[in-house]
Amino acid sequence: MKNILYIVIPCYNEQAVLQETAARLKLKLEYLMNSGKISEKSRIVFVNDGSYDNTWIMIKELHERDSIFTGINLSTNKGHQNALLAGLLTVKGLADAVISMDADLQDDIDAIEKMIDKYHEGCDIVYGVRSSRVKDSFFKRFTAESFYKLMSYMGANTVYNHADYRLMSRRAIEDLSEFKEVNLFLRGIVPLIGYRSGIVTYERNKRYAGESKYPLNKMIAFAWDGITSFSIKPIRMISTLGIFVFSFSILMLIYILARYFTGQTVVGWASLTVSLWAIGGLILLSLGIIGEYIGKIFLEAKQRPRFFVESFLDDEFCSGKNEN
Ligand code: UDP
Ligand code: MG
Repeated sequence: MKNILYIVIPCYNEQAVLQETAARLKLKLEYLMNSGKISEKSRIVFVNDGSYDNTWIMIKELHERDSIFTGINLSTNKGHQNALLAGLLTVKGLADAVISMDADLQDDIDAIEKMIDKYHEGCDIVYGVRSSRVKDSFFKRFTAESFYKLMSYMGANTVYNHADYRLMSRRAIEDLSEFKEVNLFLRGIVPLIGYRSGIVTYERNKRYAGESKYPLNKMIAFAWDGITSFSIKPIRMISTLGIFVFSFSILMLIYILARYFTGQTVVGWASLTVSLWAIGGLILLSLGIIGEYIGKIFLEAKQRPRFFVESFLDDEFCSGKNEN
C-alpha cells in the first residue's frame, strides 16, 4: 500500500504567494504520485491563521477547483507554531506522513522527495536543514545563527539550522499530540519524541513574494519562549551568581577586618561594607533557591509525556507501527 502524504502549510496574509506555492506543490505531488512514491489520496493542507487579506478566499477557491488542496480556517491569528500544530493534529489520523513547510517557497520543495525517501528507509522524523544562508540578509543570518547557538547553550536540544520544514510519521504526530504545553516551540519538542530520524539538507531561498511575518520583535519573543520553555538555566545562573557574590563577601570580610584592625578605616565603614556584600549575596542565593523550586513546578506543570514505546517484542502492533 502506498503511503498517504499530507503537506501542512500555515498561512498568514499570504495572498501574494499562495497561487505560486499551490501550483508548484501540486506539480511536485503529482510527480510523486506518478512515480509511485505516495498515494493518490495525498493532499496539500493550507492552514489559514486568521489572515485579514484574501488568503482564506483563495484557499477555498483552490479547494473548489482541485480536491488535492484543502484548508483549515482558524478562528483568529494564533501564530505560526499554533497554526502548524492545528494543521498537524487535524490531519493526524488521515495521513501516514506529514510534511510541514512555510507558504513563501523559502523551503526548497525538491527536498520533499528526499524526505519521502528517508521515510521509506524507516525514519519517523526527517529534518530539513539549511545548507547555507547566503540568500538571507546579513542581519537575519546573524540573528538566526546566534539564536541556534544560544538555544543549545541554554540546554534546549534543537537541530542546528533547522526550522519547521520537516516530515513526521503518523506515530510521531500521535506522540506530539501528547505534549500539552501552551507555549509551543515545536523545534525543541520534536527531538524529544525520539525514534529514528534523518536529515535532508537544502538551500534556503528568498521569500517568493510578500513580506516576512516575523519582524524582529516577534523573533525575539519566539527565542525567549524557546529558551524559557525548555530550560531552567537562567534560574541556575542566579543561584551561581548568588554563590559567587556570597563567597566574595567572605573575602571582603577578611579584607575589611584586616583594615579595621590596622586602624585604616572610618567608623562604620567596615560593618556597612560587609553587610552590603553579605546581604546582596544572600538575597541572590535565596532567589536562586526559590527559583529552583519554581523551575521544578514549571517542569511539572507541563505534564510532558515521560516516554514513548518504539517497539514491543511481544506484539509489534502495540507500537502503533505503520504498515507499508
Ligand atoms: N505564519 C503564520 N502565522 C503568523 C506568522 C506567520 O501562520 O502569525 C506563517 C507564514 O504565513 C509562513 C510561515 O508562518 O508560512 C513563516 O513565516 P515567514 O515566512 O513570514 O517567516 P520568516 O521566514 O521570515 O522567518
Ligand atoms: Mg519565510
